[in-house]
Amino acid sequence: MSRYLKFMNTSQGVQQIFTREKIANMSADEFEKYEKRIHAQMNKIGIPSNIELAYENQGKIFIWHTIGDGRVCDNCESMEGKIFENMEDIPDDLHPNCRCYIEEIDLKTV
Ligand SMILES: [Zn+2]
Repeated sequence: MSRYLKFMNTSQGVQQIFTREKIANMSADEFEKYEKRIHAQMNKIGIPSNIELAYENQGKIFIWHTIGDGRVCDNCESMEGKIFENMEDIPDDLHPNCRCYIEEIDLKTV
């Protein structure tokens, strides 16, 4: 599992990755909203560009999973099994203390 995916899969759900492009396209309000998280990410894994992530994305897909027990909310349930081809397209989870996670499938090894 890449350090990027490790970063996304927190014990409290899924957090998106901020890429250079994403940050560059943010409005001032959005940047203010996410500024703390961007700094935290910078300290942990840096701010990758889409090209850097393209290398990580190559030959892989990413699947959103709920924990699959009886307490999964409808919103999370609607995300179950959703496939992403690019890590940078994976959104934040939908609520605090979400237990969803992202599974990485390496298509070269299946
Ligand atoms: Zn969830």
